[in-house]
Amino acid sequence: MHAAIAWLLIGLASWTLVEYVIHGILSHQLQSFVAPLHAVHHHDQHAVFALGAWVPAVGVMAAMALVWGWAPQTLFYLGLLGGFAGYEIIHYRLHFARTLTPWEVRLRLHHRIHHLVSPSRCFGVSTMLWDWALGTGIGAAERHRYKGLLQLPPLSGPSNLGQLLAAVRPRSR
Ligand SMILES: [Zn+2]
Ligand SMILES: [Zn+2]
Repeated sequence: MHAAIAWLLIGLASWTLVEYVIHGILSHQLQSFVAPLHAVHHHDQHAVFALGAWVPAVGVMAAMALVWGWAPQTLFYLGLLGGFAGYEIIHYRLHFARTLTPWEVRLRLHHRIHHLVSPSRCFGVSTMLWDWALGTGIGAAERHRYKGLLQLPPLSGPSNLGQLLAAVRPRSR
């Protein structure tokens, strides 16, 4: 039981590095196949949820559970998926939420600098750890210089998930 929880937590923590690799390296630095998908979000920040990624991500989860049951690798991957879900919520809040915790305020400034000042830096969304470790972060002086970006209001209107739910919801009279 303890080992199972440990594998889940290792997967969850590993998500932060996977997030950095997908966003920073595959989308921005290497212009891989995920770059055009991510560019949609830079073009319109309302498209905040990686909706298309969930279908293959959950498909892999189902396949792993079928083949291996709740083996360590399945639990590790489930932890990764939990991290992905957490990322989606945090990313949504950074763009749309009106009230944020102090921790989210720091992440919001980091993410606004990525969107509005320097897309080649500040790749972390759920943590600034990997930017700090890998040299793509910003220091206190720059954070101070750009803190006016926090004055911009959060986005209004529906996200891409909101639009999808509105489209499939049966109309009430
Ligand atoms: Zn964003
Ligand atoms: Zn980006």
